[in-house]
Amino acid sequence: MSDPTSAPRKRDPECLFCRIVAGELPATTVHSDDELIAIRDIAPRSPTHILILPREHIVSAADLTEEDGPLLGNVFATAVALARSEGIADRGYRIVTNVGQWGGQTVDHLHFHLMGGRSFTWPPG
Ligand code: 5GP
Ligand code: ZN
Repeated sequence: MSDPTSAPRKRDPECLFCRIVAGELPATTVHSDDELIAIRDIAPRSPTHILILPREHIVSAADLTEEDGPLLGNVFATAVALARSEGIADRGYRIVTNVGQWGGQTVDHLHFHLMGGRSFTWPPG
């Protein structure tokens, strides 16, 4: 039986992250709630590299509206809590979302990278 409270409002059956949200593909989940999940990146670029993604299929930050304010609040509160639990909060970390081809986006389902455990350069490459 599916649980209607955890069903995404919109879903793309071809989308990699929608399939992870649906449990069709495996991932290491470090947080899950009604709106979003957080998973470990399959190819981490830093000692801590977590992806925070809405359950709903939103393509990128370019598709967000003011109505998504509560979702974004949850994203950042979750990132802050995970940074503490991962032990990266004290030294600092980075929260990044890539948009489109030149932004470096490779998966077209909105996600925020929470990266830490080493220092980063600025600007990014
Ligand atoms: P983007 O390049 O779109 O900003 O970030 C996509 C991220 O998703 C990359 O860091 C990549 O390593 C990660 N990724 C790609 N496929 C998978 C997967 O199947 N599982 C997980 N956990 N991460 C993935
Ligand atoms: Zn999706």
